[in-house]
Amino acid sequence: MPPIPDPVPTDTEVPHETEVVVIGGGIIGVCASLTLAEQGIPVVLFEKGEIAAEQSSRNWGWCRQQGRDPREIPLIVQSLNLWRSMNSRIQRNVGFTECGILTLAQSDTELEKHRAWASLGEDHGIKNKLLLGPEVTQHLTDCATTWAGGLFTPSDGRAEPTLAAPAIALAARSLGAKIFTNTAVRTIDTQSGCVDGVVTEHGRIKCKTVVVAAGAWTGLFLRNLGIRLPQLKVRSSAFRTHPMPGGPEISIYASGFAARKRSDGGYTIALGGRTRIPYDITPDSFRYLREFASLAWMSRKSLRLRLSDRFTKEKRYASRWAAESPTVFEDERILNPAPVVNLLQQAQQNIGVSFPFFKQMSIAEQWAGMIDVTPDAIPVISETPDLPGCVIATGFSGHGFGIGPAAGEFAAHLALGQKPLVDPKPFRLQRFSDGSPITPIAGI
Ligand SMILES: Cc1cc2nc3c(=O)[nH]c(=O)nc-3n(C[C@H](O)[C@H](O)[C@H](O)COP(=O)(O)OP(=O)(O)OC[C@H]3O[C@@H](n4cnc5c(N)ncnc54)[C@H](O)[C@@H]3O)c2cc1C
Repeated sequence: MPPIPDPVPTDTEVPHETEVVVIGGGIIGVCASLTLAEQGIPVVLFEKGEIAAEQSSRNWGWCRQQGRDPREIPLIVQSLNLWRSMNSRIQRNVGFTECGILTLAQSDTELEKHRAWASLGEDHGIKNKLLLGPEVTQHLTDCATTWAGGLFTPSDGRAEPTLAAPAIALAARSLGAKIFTNTAVRTIDTQSGCVDGVVTEHGRIKCKTVVVAAGAWTGLFLRNLGIRLPQLKVRSSAFRTHPMPGGPEISIYASGFAARKRSDGGYTIALGGRTRIPYDITPDSFRYLREFASLAWMSRKSLRLRLSDRFTKEKRYASRWAAESPTVFEDERILNPAPVVNLLQQAQQNIGVSFPFFKQMSIAEQWAGMIDVTPDAIPVISETPDLPGCVIATGFSGHGFGIGPAAGEFAAHLALGQKPLVDPKPFRLQRFSDGSPITPIAGI
């Protein structure tokens, strides 16, 4: 069973016109809508399923600066600031806690990598503590494994994925945003090469600006408009335990497991590390082979190629479709891949060996989500040169929940033609087509 996000009831009558349409009710779409609604801009969000029912409720809930690529650091620093004030900003609970993140090192080589990142983080004002050997037990008392050390970032945090995006959506609505669930957008209407509105399954709506925050569906959605966005999906599995009083408050990451405390007193646990990444081959794997070559080479030791039902399913996706007939977005309301259970069993075993406290766990739920990945694992938050009025915010490559509040705000600023809160260059769409070198983030 996947996690069930807090329900957000739908609005009922699609208006004929608005200023900005947001496609997708994940963390990015709702944060963009909140920013727009706070500025008094008429905004309408369409979600084909339920708010946060795909990646944004299925993630681990980590709001992490630690280990980020330098291109993302300014945005994640802003995002952590937004998370800290989110409850008071929206008068609702998103479950944010500044719990700190500890990444454990098995070897001196790993520890040296942490040392290097600690110094990069310090350059951006992020305080870290490099722990040597037994110093790890200052934070984790019940430790049965000897570690070379670890990196502790006290200002990192966690939020509750099932609460956060729904709460933000409700806050946006209270400021005037319209939120439609179970309403797929079939395509964008254009006039003279510019955005002129969108076509939903419940009718057309005019607008001059669209924010496409459709997660793993964005590449396919844009294909109908002749826009090439190289994007692939990677299945990622996790489970949660029943409440376990007395366990660690900090989030722990190591090769072999990752765990963070939940606000219900249980833990969300996954395999963590780069030990094994199951990858479902699909027609897109061949379509975007050239762009993804460096990332695939970098991850070659951990990638496990699989031929699953995703291939046949996605082979049936049309490349072009008419707005008048139902689309795949109505057929697959919620992308709900099956978890890879043997990886979760490994995580359960590994964490029990390292921390005997976790041996007593009982699993309440396990699930998977499809992470949307770009060739450099850096998101696209960008205007679309070939379609004025279209802003893309996608490709968060497995770390978009933490960065969501700032990324959504960034997309809203682009939609309004305002100065974005960080340098937009690393996030532009054209980097995949203008001959720029594709440099995947270290650590994917
Ligand atoms: C198992 C797992 C663990 C993760 N752990 C973390 C973590 O700890 N920290 C972190 O920062 N990130 C994590 N992530 C990544 C994070 O969840 C995502 O990067 C983030 O949620 C992406 O948000 P989004 O809004 O772009 O996409 P989504 O949440 O996927 O939302 C996109 C929405 O668009 C809708 N949509 C698509 N097409 C249409 C259409 N045509 N019409 C209407 N609606 C449409 C979809 O139904 C979907 O709800 C994890 C992801 C997974 C799967």
